[in-house]
Amino acid sequence: MRTTVGIIGAGPAGLLLARLLRNAGIDSVVLESRDRSYVEHRQRAGILEQGTVDVLRAAGAGERMDREGLRHDGIELRFAGRRHRVDFPALTGGRSVMVYAQTEVCKDLIALQLADGGPLLFEAEALAVEGAETDRPRVRFRRGGPDGAEDVLECDYVVGCDGFWGVARAAVPDGRTFERTYPYGWLGVLADVAPSHDELVYARHDRGFALLSMRSPSVSRLYLQVPADTDADSWSDDEIWAELERRFETRDDWTLDRGPITQKSVTPMRSYVHEPMRHGRLFLAGDAAHIVPPTGAKGLNLAVGDVVTLARALAHRTGGGSDELLDAYSATCLRRVWQAERFSYDMTTLLHRAPGATPFDDRLQLARLDRFASSRAAETDLAEAYTGFPIG
Ligand SMILES: Cc1cc2nc3c(=O)[nH]c(=O)nc-3n(C[C@H](O)[C@H](O)[C@H](O)COP(=O)(O)OP(=O)(O)OC[C@H]3O[C@@H](n4cnc5c(N)ncnc54)[C@H](O)[C@@H]3O)c2cc1C
Repeated sequence: MRTTVGIIGAGPAGLLLARLLRNAGIDSVVLESRDRSYVEHRQRAGILEQGTVDVLRAAGAGERMDREGLRHDGIELRFAGRRHRVDFPALTGGRSVMVYAQTEVCKDLIALQLADGGPLLFEAEALAVEGAETDRPRVRFRRGGPDGAEDVLECDYVVGCDGFWGVARAAVPDGRTFERTYPYGWLGVLADVAPSHDELVYARHDRGFALLSMRSPSVSRLYLQVPADTDADSWSDDEIWAELERRFETRDDWTLDRGPITQKSVTPMRSYVHEPMRHGRLFLAGDAAHIVPPTGAKGLNLAVGDVVTLARALAHRTGGGSDELLDAYSATCLRRVWQAERFSYDMTTLLHRAPGATPFDDRLQLARLDRFASSRAAETDLAEAYTGFPIG
């Protein structure tokens, strides 16, 4: 098999890159190790920055998002029984975010890719990237599950969009990694109940962080800070609801509506960056190159920024231009990545209670939160970061 751009991974990064390349008249092949149903139902991100929404629309993948997504003009910070709303459009000159689940973004992009006859191979696991430093890089892969036959995809360029656990990053030698793990994770649940608030609620409590989010007008997505090694099944549904009620408690008459929990899992928290994001003709994009803790809702949005930058550079090069944009790819992306790393770290340490936190640490967190409630400059900084850093 031969193509211009070989893409490993059909998460948001790989699928959107294939779409952007197709729109630019560049052929690609996407290899995905899992089956279609798995990719379409893996619960993950749900908040799209303004820039991501604009990119999906411009790529022709925004029709259902515009119909079914929920535009959000703010978030609520909840601490010490107080509630403070951050008004995004008022602070950022009109920017907002969209609640539209990653599962739906992937479904839309897969449907478009297959409708156009674009090669998207499920159950095709990349085993290694070879010859990245040559002008004929190859992806060795296996078709049809663990017992399938091996094959080779020859390319002009290879893009590793294969997430944190993929194989592409191993083919970037002499890289440098920067990492922080956190001693807590998120117990996340999906519940068949209308969200109890019409915007996301980020709650800081002496018992730990809680987040109220949503997937649709009838499905709530809720999270509790738990120790990193927690087994999700060790929490009964009643215990989860009771703990959520404690952490979301306010001084007014706000209440949390309960409903059947349909899914629960624990997500570990990690900050990670691999530099550079390129070796020869191999490029890394999305979680293959960097991870953020989910507190700032940045992971998916960073992946989108990477592939927009890369698609532009590949279109420039294959359209007869120089290597200039490809050469700048890693540095261009990393600048935005580190802003998102900073913001995600700040949000995480602002809202979570670390094991061994002292009363002094608690007071500092409350003072930092109070700053958002009392300073327009502080609030504007948060709103700008939350609605998204510029791409490219
Ligand atoms: C539980 C969870 C909750 C999250 N919540 C949020 C959130 O609220 N907000 C937010 O912004 N972000 C969140 N994230 C992060 C966000 O989901 C990721 O940043 C985003 O999925 C990155 O997209 P990606 O395409 O780079 O990687 P992925 O979505 O990981 O996609 C990589 C793809 O590559 C495939 N693959 C892996 N190895 C191979 C191989 N060898 N060969 C072929 N295919 C391969 C995988 O099967 C996968 O389909 C969450 C992540 C997790 C795990």
